[in-house]
Amino acid sequence: PPAPHGFSDPAEIAVLRGSLLAWYDRCKRDLPWRTLAVTELDADRRAYAVWVSEIMLQQTQVATVIDYYNRWMQKWPTLQALAQASLEEVNELWAGLGYYSRGKRLQEAARKVVSELAGQMPRTAEDLQKLLPGVGRYTAGAIASISYGQATGVVDGNVIRVLCRLRCIGADSSSPAVIDRLWEMANVLVDRSRPGDFNQALMELGATVCVPKAPLCGECPVKQHCQAQRRVEKELAFASQKLFGKPAPVPDVEECGVGDCPLCPPATEPWDSSLGVTNFPRKAAKKQPRVVRTATCVLERRGCHGAPEYLIVQRPSSGLLAGLWEFPSLPLDQDLQEEKEREALAAHLQAWMGQPMAAKGLRLMGEVIHIFSHIHQTYVVYSLPLDGDVTLEPGLSPSRWVTEEEFHASAVSTAMKKV
Ligand code: SF4
Repeated sequence: PPAPHGFSDPAEIAVLRGSLLAWYDRCKRDLPWRTLAVTELDADRRAYAVWVSEIMLQQTQVATVIDYYNRWMQKWPTLQALAQASLEEVNELWAGLGYYSRGKRLQEAARKVVSELAGQMPRTAEDLQKLLPGVGRYTAGAIASISYGQATGVVDGNVIRVLCRLRCIGADSSSPAVIDRLWEMANVLVDRSRPGDFNQALMELGATVCVPKAPLCGECPVKQHCQAQRRVEKELAFASQKLFGKPAPVPDVEECGVGDCPLCPPATEPWDSSLGVTNFPRKAAKKQPRVVRTATCVLERRGCHGAPEYLIVQRPSSGLLAGLWEFPSLPLDQDLQEEKEREALAAHLQAWMGQPMAAKGLRLMGEVIHIFSHIHQTYVVYSLPLDGDVTLEPGLSPSRWVTEEEFHASAVSTAMKKV
């Protein structure tokens, strides 16, 4: 690869590793999974502890994960314990963490380890990826390096950002050419004697210093290796020379010098001085999220002790929010008028209740917007108080009446809690 986009000097690599690890030792955050990775002596338990944290941390902030992680590890401290849990319990504990299929797949994989691998976790990144459903290249590398000390690199969103800046990679960071290059670089850089700490240090740097919008380059332990930072400094020097009227040398704003370099910013979007180091990484334009409208109805009755109860029904066992509970809901066609929405919802509810249902009894309460990663979802919320006893159709999906307290303890999504 062109020199500015890689690491080839062993002396530079050694210095970078040393600086990064020294910074990590000084500044790392205390996190429960890090403690377990150090204190747990049993390799299977250690790998399990790291695995759970890695799955929870996918697309979720550290601060949110900590409580969930502690509760999970208290309830299921081993693979064997998790393998015996029901999916309902897993969903209940996961509720609110988002991307619910992660919990389900984690449990399926734990069952596989117990039943097919005699309870022993695979011992290399390659085997972890090959044998465990839901474990991709990143997670496998993280578990193997942190739990077993395998010298293998990792590439996640934080690492992508740091490496793209360190080596001025301005091509689309989700393209295969860039991703391959970053994995190669991560494998070259990873410290041979402390691979787990090195990987965590690189991710920690991306999470706390080399952050997306306003990186703290002044505090960065590897700034002397950063090509993006070097470029900013050169531009500054050039600007001040100009200010003092000195004969200005032409600044070195050439790209790497290779024509049509697949890693440089595209000619159509060259380096933008106003962005500084945040010129990197670059992403292809995001796909617009799908817009979905769903009518949902909070059916309320008086329970046997007089407290209000609400009907919740279970979603199908695959697809979005699989197996979670919700108020009876119906996806709507776009641009439906309110009257038609009511009629469609009444017909849907009628199937549950097995009795005719007047659309005008439904009270429109308002709208709730919830953004899933790829869906812009609007819930049109209706309510309907019921008198007397109601018998539900037994042939439909599972359903139950719950008090408000039971509702909050059930496996319901954050979107439904908003509703
Ligand atoms: Fe990131 Fe700035 Fe450090 Fe470069 S110097 S790695 S841009 S924080």
